[in-house]
Amino acid sequence: MGLQAKAAEHINPYEVALQQYDRAVAYLDLPKGIVEFLRYPKRELTVNFPVRLDNDDIKVFTGYRVHHNTVLGPSKGGIRYAPSVDLDEVRALAMWMTWKCALVNLPYGGAKGGVICDPYQMSEAELERLTRRYATEINLFISPHGDIPAPDMGTNAQTMAWIMDTYSMTMGYSVPAIVTGKPINVGGSQGRTEATGRGVVICMDEVLHRRGYNRPADVRVAVQGFGNVGTYAAKHADELGYCVIAISDVTGGYYNPKGLDIDDVLHYTADSPHHQLAGYPHAEPITNAELLALGCDVLAPCALENQITEENARDIKAFLIVEGANGPTTPEADDILFENGVQIVPDILANAGGVTVSYFEWVQGLQSFFWDVEEVNRQLQRVLIKAFDEVYRTQTQFGVDMRTAAQITAIQRVGGATHTRGIYP
Ligand code: GLU
Repeated sequence: MGLQAKAAEHINPYEVALQQYDRAVAYLDLPKGIVEFLRYPKRELTVNFPVRLDNDDIKVFTGYRVHHNTVLGPSKGGIRYAPSVDLDEVRALAMWMTWKCALVNLPYGGAKGGVICDPYQMSEAELERLTRRYATEINLFISPHGDIPAPDMGTNAQTMAWIMDTYSMTMGYSVPAIVTGKPINVGGSQGRTEATGRGVVICMDEVLHRRGYNRPADVRVAVQGFGNVGTYAAKHADELGYCVIAISDVTGGYYNPKGLDIDDVLHYTADSPHHQLAGYPHAEPITNAELLALGCDVLAPCALENQITEENARDIKAFLIVEGANGPTTPEADDILFENGVQIVPDILANAGGVTVSYFEWVQGLQSFFWDVEEVNRQLQRVLIKAFDEVYRTQTQFGVDMRTAAQITAIQRVGGATHTRGIYP
């Protein structure tokens, strides 16, 4: 997404992830060697592979799969299709998955994958061939008890169905547990598609209640990104009665100070090219940069990394930021926002709803016993609120901001488990 200031393109997400880690780990009394070990990805795979395009040309694509850590269990994390994918981004996203899974107490480590491509410029048939070939190339790295992919930016339930089918064909039997975020008719879970956005709003709602805001209609929410996360964050916020005044995607921002009719927006995108917002008539067009600086109460960046930087952090008027995206705020921006009293619910907590329901999907699949959507949503709420409480407690204990508290909680768990397991051999 070409959403933000040019400066953002030069910020390396892996350096951001390491800076956040260094800040948090400094509060813990972990052995030096373990502190060092957790800074590195465990293993990394780069694949270059040919795909036949619809015009019969053959194009070579580059993809990655990185396992950051597997101490708590199989590694888990999405697969991203975007032109901006690179190895350092995948490393950062894998590391954040490790902390995210540990924070919400899932028995998983962290991983991430990505392919450098523009899914919006490719046909469905080309995407299927790319996905099946990429799945075959990373076959050595993934397995239902070793590393379990899921959707991320530019991929969706259909992508997961192709990966599951490709893996199952090579095995000779169906292996639904190889991926999560599958369509429901091939073993997916109720509520998975909505889960990340729903989790963002569960966290937002929790902070607001604790801070005494009990009239959702008076709370103005701006959502950056209208993809796998932002769409359902806006929808769930609207369902709870919050006033969603702005949304955006690659085509720009759409603002209505009286509140957008989210059902109307969803009807519009259901039929629009690539389900994008371009030309949405019942709102004032603004830029993505303007959306971030909008007069609102809650800002939910649900697009991609490095959106809130030292360049624009001072312009933010929201008093609460709930990070639906991974890594939307740089450490420099964190400092500025902290000084300005802006509270941030960090990505590894705010967007953990997706991987949490991925875990439910994996468990349901392994047991061949499926839950209804009420059960999924009830368990999701339980898991997120428990993690939320734990982060608040850590925050009080160490006197730090919420991101550092979340990272401390997660790193302590992974570090502790590493110590308990002992160093092999
Ligand atoms: N890609 C999502 C994330 O960043 C979900 C990962 C998963 O479900 O494994 O959390």
